[in-house]
Amino acid sequence: MFDQKDLKADLMAQVEASIEQLLAAQPPSDKITLNDMERLVSKAGSEIEAQVMQSLVERNEAAERSERAVCAECQQPMRHKGSQRRKVVTKSGEIEVNRPYYYCEQCQVGVFPPG
Ligand SMILES: [Zn+2]
Repeated sequence: MFDQKDLKADLMAQVEASIEQLLAAQPPSDKITLNDMERLVSKAGSEIEAQVMQSLVERNEAAERSERAVCAECQQPMRHKGSQRRKVVTKSGEIEVNRPYYYCEQCQVGVFPPG
């Protein structure tokens, strides 16, 4: 389970890695053009956006998993039966998320809760 402080540390590390990549990818300063700078900054910006988005989504999933899903048919608690990795396209780019899967033994149905 993440808390706010862990999330911040996690995000800082990811942003730092993206900035390091940006600096490493820079052409020598006597050869760099405005276009190069624009391209590098835009790339780093999208990477950071996607990483922050993914971290927030994962944190939300961790919170969701701690809640017990209840079967819509019989109102009994459902069992968490693992997760499935899914690609999701967001405004910040494509990210991968884990969708939790729940199963009701009684009704023998499984669901991916929406959200
Ligand atoms: Zn049920």
